[in-house]
Amino acid sequence: MELIPLGWTAERSQDVPGGCAVARVARVDRGRLTVLTADGEHRVHRAGTLHDDAGGTGPAVGDWVAVRGEQAVAVLPRRTAFVRTAAGRGSEPQVVAANVDLVLVVDALGGAPRLRRVERYLAVAWGSGAMPVVVLTKADLEPDVPAAVAAVAADAVGVPVLAVSSVTGAGLDDVRALLGPGCTAAMVGPSGVGKSSLLNALAGATVAGTAEIRGDGRGRHTTTARELHVLPGGGLLVDTPGMRELALAGEDGVDTVYADVAGYAADCRFRDCAHRTEPGCGVAAAIDRGDLDPARLTAWRKLQAEAHRQELRADARARALETARVRSLHREMRARPAKPRGGR
Ligand code: GDP
Repeated sequence: MELIPLGWTAERSQDVPGGCAVARVARVDRGRLTVLTADGEHRVHRAGTLHDDAGGTGPAVGDWVAVRGEQAVAVLPRRTAFVRTAAGRGSEPQVVAANVDLVLVVDALGGAPRLRRVERYLAVAWGSGAMPVVVLTKADLEPDVPAAVAAVAADAVGVPVLAVSSVTGAGLDDVRALLGPGCTAAMVGPSGVGKSSLLNALAGATVAGTAEIRGDGRGRHTTTARELHVLPGGGLLVDTPGMRELALAGEDGVDTVYADVAGYAADCRFRDCAHRTEPGCGVAAAIDRGDLDPARLTAWRKLQAEAHRQELRADARARALETARVRSLHREMRARPAKPRGGR
């Protein structure tokens, strides 16, 4: 029962191997994991056989692991996953954070609303399987907060939009209310919009962006470790520099963000309408009526193309991995000594 504030849900019990305790991964270091259990934080070793359910390289921040003694022996199946596709050919997608319920899409107030940027991050968030919420920071710098929130809310259909200030504390309670006990959230958004400040304000302490003195005395460096923080009053927040600039996972998230455009397109006379010059185009009609901002249509096209390229890359990678797997299997079979015929 005490695991519930850490995000545990009863149906996970069936995934736990016999004789094991469970713990949630708060931080991954080389060879060792920092895990959270009902009685606090512990360091455990990872068993040599430990792999995640996706067959990848190992547990990620937010994963639930089965622990036997001092060792994490299995990663329990993930409900959601934030995946980062690293640059370079042949690189495998990396799970940045697992089992995230909410994604805080963070942008700053105090200038013209950056709707296209918010749309892009919303598409990333929807693609992860978690629910997005837009958090507009630096409310203390915005002369008309309700109007700024309304402008973003009109664009981010079906997504809650909150305004906060980490300086005055305004709006922080609304974020806390969303992040109830056991709810895990992660932040995405460009650097400088106030994500670290928001985490520190919610944590009531400086937990993000801490500077350390290097052991060799050659100055300071800023720690960039991904970490799951338990917030006072419930809620867990993942702070991870890797979450800040994420590629689109695929086309699903984009379709969700632009569901209105897809709705207008359903009215087109031709099923393969490209919404450019075709007669009877539902999208063009919506623009003429003033129901759809043409810039939103352009943004939709751009993100769809990006998501499509991403999916093609993922397919190519999957094919390359399969070819490599089959080749190594063949090599292995050729290397095996032939069995004597009819022998026992
Ligand atoms: P991050 O890169 O998204 O983590 O952004 P930071 O949290 O490091 O903040 C970037 C800058 O914005 C810093 O100089 C902060 O002091 C400032 N900042 C963050 N939140 C607020 C806020 O609510 N109000 C104001 N006025 N400044 C803020």
